[in-house]
Amino acid sequence: MRRIGILGGMMDPVHRGHLAAAKAALAAGMDTVLLAPCLAPPHRPAPLAAAEHRLEMCRLAAQEDGRLEASDIDLRHETCYAADTARLLAKRYPGAELYWIIGADKLPGLSRWHEAEALFSLCQFLVCPRPGASDDIAVPGARVTRLDMQPIAASSGDAIQRLRALEDAPELLPKALARYIAQNGLYQPDYVPALRCYGMQDKRLQHTLGVRDTAVELASLHGASMQAAAVAAMLHDIAKPLPLAEMQRVVRGYGLALPEEVTRDANLLHGPAAAAIAENELGVTHPGVLSAIGCHTTGKPGMSILDKVIFIADAIEPNRRPYPGLEDMRRLARTDLDAAVLLSMRRTNEYVLSRGYHFCHQTELAMEYLQQKEEKS
Ligand code: FE
Ligand code: FE
Repeated sequence: MRRIGILGGMMDPVHRGHLAAAKAALAAGMDTVLLAPCLAPPHRPAPLAAAEHRLEMCRLAAQEDGRLEASDIDLRHETCYAADTARLLAKRYPGAELYWIIGADKLPGLSRWHEAEALFSLCQFLVCPRPGASDDIAVPGARVTRLDMQPIAASSGDAIQRLRALEDAPELLPKALARYIAQNGLYQPDYVPALRCYGMQDKRLQHTLGVRDTAVELASLHGASMQAAAVAAMLHDIAKPLPLAEMQRVVRGYGLALPEEVTRDANLLHGPAAAAIAENELGVTHPGVLSAIGCHTTGKPGMSILDKVIFIADAIEPNRRPYPGLEDMRRLARTDLDAAVLLSMRRTNEYVLSRGYHFCHQTELAMEYLQQKEEKS
């Protein structure tokens, strides 16, 4: 007989604690374990991520083992009662043995669950140990088995805290999951209203989202924080719609000392101005993010991986119209970040000179730095 385990909950987000419980259930003989996010029960605060995101995150987490499966079963009915879900499962998987996976902390209240008797007859229970929870697993009328595993200490709250600190938290979140979170801006402030407030139009917003997508992918490839890349990408052009005089007021107001060649050119100044806005008006404190925003227009010597990721993602994001060297840059960005940035700077250089302008000294210094690095390796 097929044995199906179901792991329910908000999954906001699903994390390695859930995965450990699911894998322990597989080890205990389940053929399949369903990761099944639920709607928010009325007495609890609404989840931070929308149901479709939580389901998709379960899908990505389920890639860790072919016997894991994301399930929308708990999103399809209005009540959050396990008994209702169990009835739906029994219908969907006729003849299967059903196992509800719960934390040991839930056991004392189990007999008070809605329609407990019906639930107990429809399914058995697999219990994950919890730090501090009692060893006694007896519940009258319920068939309960303890899972053999280390107590789970990880929580969604921990994961959210780490994400808000702009860390990918690999010990809590599989990489594919952290990437999805970053690419969709989950668990971060919604920066779109701020971008709109600074006058950003649809086209540049599209560019911004394209930069985020590309930057997260490159961060994942080159070992920078994907969450930091996402936030830096979202804010890199926030100052771009402002008139030059307004950018100058912003950087002056926040006491930034910049070379004159930067302050007189909006194409260069909107980077430092965006960093000043992010730091002083949007509460961004992450130094790496502020640096990447600030130098996305000019580059600088000693650029960090994140600086380079944002710089090149800006140049190659999918909405960019074809220009000379673009495809080379796209290819290089995946394999050799330094070479991609250098190529982008050289192209800009040629373009700027061809139009009779001076090349930015900051960028020249950045190029020298990258060239020296290239020669050494
Ligand atoms: Fe820009
Ligand atoms: Fe840009």
